[in-house]
Amino acid sequence: MPLDNEPDKVLTETIEELWRKLESTVVTIEKDSYYSVFYEDPPKYYVERVLGSCSCSAVSGDHFRMRFLKCDALTGKFSWPCSDDIECLASLWMFAGPLTLDGHGPFTIDEIDIIEEKFQVFRREILIKQLHA
Ligand SMILES: [Zn+2]
Repeated sequence: MPLDNEPDKVLTETIEELWRKLESTVVTIEKDSYYSVFYEDPPKYYVERVLGSCSCSAVSGDHFRMRFLKCDALTGKFSWPCSDDIECLASLWMFAGPLTLDGHGPFTIDEIDIIEEKFQVFRREILIKQLHA
């Protein structure tokens, strides 16, 4: 389950460098669209739906209310968890999308290869930074 994901924990000074390597595909963030989102500790990602922009004080700067899909480890398919987990996320952490979901749940995602490829780069970079921290 996603936890707080404030970008100022580990990466602030190197995040621009990281984004250049990752070549995020996110150009616009649209309500009701799906994006893949990085989590740094431990490195993982979720696919999440944008519910709307948010102006609460829990996250600094531009951020969105997001609801995440769980991924079945065996089938690799995505579905809604039983509980509605909604959280605030900085757009900084979205790295691919809008994504194309197929099916009525569980879903497959057309861009899953792109997501996995970028996630592997992200994980490697995070592990390197943690080793040198
Ligand atoms: Zn918020």
